[in-house]
Amino acid sequence: MSPANNIATDANGVPIAISPSRFVSSHTGPITDAGYGFGTLAIHAGASPDPATGAVIPPLSLSTTFKQRAVGDFVYEYSRSDNPNRANLEAAIAALEHAKHGFAFSSGSATTATVLNTLQPGSHVISVNDVYGGTHRYLNKVAGSLGIETTFVDLANVNNLRDVVRENTRLVWIETPTNPTLRLVDITAVSDIAHEAGLFVVVDNTFLSPYFQNPLDLGADLVVHSATKYINGHSDVVMGVAATNNDALASKIRFLQNAIGAVPSPFDCYQAQRGIKTLHLRMRQHAINAQRVAEFLERSEYVDSVVYPGLESHPQHELAKRQMRGFGGMVSFRIKGNTHTADRFLQRTRLFTLAESLGGVESLAELPARMTHAGLAPEERNELGITENLIRLSVGVEDADDLIADIAHALESAVSEN
Ligand SMILES: *Cc1c(COP(=O)(O)O)cnc(C)c1O
Repeated sequence: MSPANNIATDANGVPIAISPSRFVSSHTGPITDAGYGFGTLAIHAGASPDPATGAVIPPLSLSTTFKQRAVGDFVYEYSRSDNPNRANLEAAIAALEHAKHGFAFSSGSATTATVLNTLQPGSHVISVNDVYGGTHRYLNKVAGSLGIETTFVDLANVNNLRDVVRENTRLVWIETPTNPTLRLVDITAVSDIAHEAGLFVVVDNTFLSPYFQNPLDLGADLVVHSATKYINGHSDVVMGVAATNNDALASKIRFLQNAIGAVPSPFDCYQAQRGIKTLHLRMRQHAINAQRVAEFLERSEYVDSVVYPGLESHPQHELAKRQMRGFGGMVSFRIKGNTHTADRFLQRTRLFTLAESLGGVESLAELPARMTHAGLAPEERNELGITENLIRLSVGVEDADDLIADIAHALESAVSEN
């Protein structure tokens, strides 16, 4: 069979080498509109076979520029503005977050920066106080030069929000659960108060992924992720994504995505989409393993306290059950002893690797006070409960029995030397 018969051509008979698959698989297409379940969308949204070749997996498109049929007549123009692999990934993100519009950026931090650039100079932002360190740094040390001022507030009691709204407040930025103390914020309650005051609500949904929580369904206007974590899930891509149903906000973000240009490479988009196809499988196992690890730690004589939203001892366990469809893969605990005990524990696990980051298939462990949260002032750490013996686990999808045996061994060995 002549391959030419199967290859889509333009009016002049020239093969179309680009994949128009976004048009049959985007949020407006049949895949996402038919009420399919999460796993079906994770595998099929933005992932239609390539009509040009029949390739079941849309090819990696590295071209930076695209042939126009006539001036201004094109599917893709220039790769920073849009490209097939990013469009496919963005369609998948939109589907999984129940959004009309999805966006991908070169990192979670670039997503934050681009979103905050939608604000006019003179705007005021309200952020939850234990927000991701990089977001705190951007709001505190960078956004000022854009003329944006931020108030950080404890939103365990959502009514605190009313006290800090100003005439020029435009946006509320929340994260739930927070890092590393896994505090929750009631997304619906915050959205109700914020919308009364005419404010946008942004939720950083990195810790749960869309599998366990869809902030837009709970009232938020924009959801963002560090896709570096669960969405890619294999610790080999740095990326951020965002999704919204608000057309005006979407067109501002689309404009800035191109104008600022903090975009991911086609290869990273391809990798992240491959990761997404197993997001539902991974998240289920992360949560099963984390629950078992948390329950084991809670029973251990070598542990002072455990924080996991799936434990009845979590102060917001009821909110967790209401707001989340699962409790996630992150567990924090305070080892009996001090920072040296914690350090010994972290050196003696074999399966949990001592490293920053989270959300990959492999288990990781870290000491927030001296690693991810070393940038905070000691008083700030104390206020948030980030004590010197607080250890954060990103529980992977290995066999739970092996993970628990690994922890049990390292705990006993570390604490018995106190
Ligand atoms: C990692 C992380 C970010 C930043 O994402 P990068 O991809 O590292 O830039 C933002 N928010 C949360 C909750 C994160 O864990």
